[in-house]
Amino acid sequence: AAAPPQADAVGGVVLDRVSKRYGGQAAVDDLSLEIRPGEFLSLLGPSGCGKTTTLRMIAGFEHPDAGDIRISGRSVIGQAPYRRDVNTVFQAYALFPHMTVAQNVAYGLHERRVARVELRARVAEALAMVQMRRFADRKPSQLSGGQQQRVALARALVNRPAVLLLDEPLAALDRKLREEMQLELKLIQAKLGLTFVFVTHDQAEALSMSDRIAVMRDGRIEQLDDATTIYRAPVSAYVASFVGQQNFFSGVVSAVGGEVQTSYGPISTVSTGLSVGQRVRAAVRPEFVELATGSPPGDTNRVEGRLIGVSHLGEAQQYLVQLGPELSVIARVATPLAPKLQIGESVWCSWRAESVQLFPDDEPIATG
Ligand code: ATP
Repeated sequence: AAAPPQADAVGGVVLDRVSKRYGGQAAVDDLSLEIRPGEFLSLLGPSGCGKTTTLRMIAGFEHPDAGDIRISGRSVIGQAPYRRDVNTVFQAYALFPHMTVAQNVAYGLHERRVARVELRARVAEALAMVQMRRFADRKPSQLSGGQQQRVALARALVNRPAVLLLDEPLAALDRKLREEMQLELKLIQAKLGLTFVFVTHDQAEALSMSDRIAVMRDGRIEQLDDATTIYRAPVSAYVASFVGQQNFFSGVVSAVGGEVQTSYGPISTVSTGLSVGQRVRAAVRPEFVELATGSPPGDTNRVEGRLIGVSHLGEAQQYLVQLGPELSVIARVATPLAPKLQIGESVWCSWRAESVQLFPDDEPIATG
């Protein structure tokens, strides 16, 4: 397929019907993807869906069995990794322990025989970008995990690749540091205008950083969209459950327009185009569920249950309401508005028809 010229410009990446099999198993299955120059694109999905294999094929560490890969408009099939206009940052930073920070960052430039004056300037510039200049003379063992990861980033940036490939680079960091680095990575990417291809299984990370997210499943892309669309308009129950939380109700489309019969009562929706009798899953995000101790008005979109848990998330409170032995509903309310409820208390959950999304009930729910 012909890619739009943008993805074939300098810094763009095109995967055209790429497949990779291990034994009899397809790790990547006829995957096509166009990444624009300067874009922050995440490959998101559960373990084993083919994210890393995809990234390694762009890097040149793995070779596709079929399909074409183009970087900056040129096919890289058969081209060695070091000849491609990309650099990879791995989760395990793999710094040379006997070298200083500056020597680690300079290593690639040495190999390419960059002149001494230029080399020094570029190392200083790369270290400044990741705020590590004052650690230039330290050994990796004298750095924290976050600082080591910054050095690994500087080592990739110093080569000035058009495309930076990142394979779960923040996974080893503790949560607070990871969130700080997410912000910094995004700032560096925006400032340099580099193309970032970022592999993660962490949906919150993908949502917070990416221009676009490719949600992967079994070696294919299930949905490719910006974060807002992925979250608000997932194309399948798989995406809906992998990105953010969902309450799912199984049911059957009833004869009443836009209504679904479930064992917990009728759910009304604004969905159209469903056939009567079709089995569906109705999905409602926790932030759309309202809580009340009395019965809310109306006959649909309300269920009664017992409050079995409250968790404090900081900015919000999360309530777990058990409807029956098999099903509970999660409700999330911004902390300033959160009602004071007793565990064991009977509560009503309700939501608006506009908040309900329907998916065919023929697919498994993602776990990740
Ligand atoms: P994770 O987040 O766990 O790394 P992933 O989404 O990156 O998962 P891949 O590492 O790309 O997934 O693996 C995709 C599939 O290919 C998996 O089923 C995996 O077991 C298989 N696979 C990957 N590399 C190899 C290999 N070198 N040999 C055999 N099978 C492999």
